[in-house]
Amino acid sequence: VAIALDGGVPDYGARSSSGSSRLGVFKRPRDSRPPDLPSLIPDRDGPAASLADLAQPTLARTESNAAVGRETAAHDEGEKSVSLDEFDARLIKESFAHMADNSSLAMEYFYSHLFSVSPETRGMFPMGMSQMRETVFAALARLVWIVDSPAESAAYLAQLGRHHRKYGVKDKHYQAFFRVLLNTVAYFNAGNWTPETEAAWQGMLAYAARKMRSAAAAEAKNHPPWWVGEIVGHDRRSETVAVVTIKPDGPLPYRPGQYLPVQVPRWPRVWRPYSIANAPRGSGLIDLHVRAVPGGMVSTTLVRQAAAGDTVLLGPAAGEMLAPASDRDLLCVAGGTGLAPVKAIIEDMSRRQQPAGRTRKITLFAAARGEPDLYDLPDLIRLQSAIPGLAVIPVPSGLLPDVRGTGLFENCEAYICGPAAMVRQTTLLLAAHVAAEQIHHDPLPDEPFRPVAASRQYLA
Ligand SMILES: Cc1cc2nc3c(=O)[nH]c(=O)nc-3n(C[C@H](O)[C@H](O)[C@H](O)COP(=O)(O)OP(=O)(O)OC[C@H]3O[C@@H](n4cnc5c(N)ncnc54)[C@H](O)[C@@H]3O)c2cc1C
Repeated sequence: VAIALDGGVPDYGARSSSGSSRLGVFKRPRDSRPPDLPSLIPDRDGPAASLADLAQPTLARTESNAAVGRETAAHDEGEKSVSLDEFDARLIKESFAHMADNSSLAMEYFYSHLFSVSPETRGMFPMGMSQMRETVFAALARLVWIVDSPAESAAYLAQLGRHHRKYGVKDKHYQAFFRVLLNTVAYFNAGNWTPETEAAWQGMLAYAARKMRSAAAAEAKNHPPWWVGEIVGHDRRSETVAVVTIKPDGPLPYRPGQYLPVQVPRWPRVWRPYSIANAPRGSGLIDLHVRAVPGGMVSTTLVRQAAAGDTVLLGPAAGEMLAPASDRDLLCVAGGTGLAPVKAIIEDMSRRQQPAGRTRKITLFAAARGEPDLYDLPDLIRLQSAIPGLAVIPVPSGLLPDVRGTGLFENCEAYICGPAAMVRQTTLLLAAHVAAEQIHHDPLPDEPFRPVAASRQYLA
């Protein structure tokens, strides 16, 4: 559940720009931890007082109520475990389906309720809430969809827990969020709400909170919740695209193919994911390929206003479109800035040993709407001459040429990244030739209900 109970971290330290910096500056304080935030919930006596104990005794401790990484083990030992078989997933799915019929109303109700129970939480969210509402609902839908699949739900909840650290989420935020969520589901199931349904939700939310919080606590032992990144290079490649090179203020672990949540000082608390365009470097520098979308808050800021010396906030890397473990050939189809993660994967492959007795074939179709959109062609040509087996095929028409019969499909790992329509179309084309688990792409919008393995959803 993308709680997005933004703990104010993004605001924190942000100052208006001075000197030559046009974007503004984030600064990490000396102790590297966000300041304590005001309490979010009136203690246990809100309108849902009977639910106030929800999950609370069972939860692990995040870094936010204690020093980062401390006390976690001791706290974990005392935890009561809530397992998946302790609640009825069918009741959860059925009641969620009732709420799903009114998803936008339900999310309006949810946030109004949350803000009235805890007025100060309003200041922890971005001004525009529509994307937030959609994201939270989609995350919830996904969680409900996979709730009876232990491995998938545990992995997803752990990812959510880790990612909510960047919002400054504390124990009490989980409690407030889940309490209001339970009230919301009950409200939208008015005629069908039974003690059994309520018990099922209580169990599920306790399970979710526990998984999220213990993953967050484990992560807090090794990594900060967010990094300040200094823009050290800003290369405007076209009217709409810039390659932005960022130096994080500490080691930021990631795997080629993953993306980072990015926040600019101009738009507090607004996080947007951008794929990392390079395999990890000794210098720690990270390239992002950003296209300004019309009216886009973060993208237009990064492309049109950012300059070297500005800073951004970076969240932890995420994403399941990773370089393959197999020796298979690679077929990559990238559209526009969808090139970024594919480039990182290709760079990573070039560092690996070739399969025994042959050179791995890597074919990259770089699709663009026109020549100016092939913003990275010189670099791709350089890569082609440096990496044996790599063939770069620019496709300025933006259409994937019909490569059936070329042998490129055979037993390959396929990577597709770019506009959603292109990803869907190419996936359909490949589906007849390539096994589903060998087709990789980042999450597509509008598909919150697909199982994890198929969708590789990103919703945090
Ligand atoms: C996993 C993942 C990886 C991503 N990687 C990259 C990347 O490497 N480079 C990159 O440039 N972007 C990438 N994106 C898209 C990026 O996260 C933002 O969605 C995009 O930059 C728009 O954000 P914004 O704040 O500027 O626009 P918003 O303020 O969110 O939106 C403004 C308007 O633009 C519309 N809009 C939003 N996104 C698009 C779009 N893609 N095309 C057309 N209209 C749009 C919105 O509907 C809205 O009307 C990625 C997205 C995901 C989910």
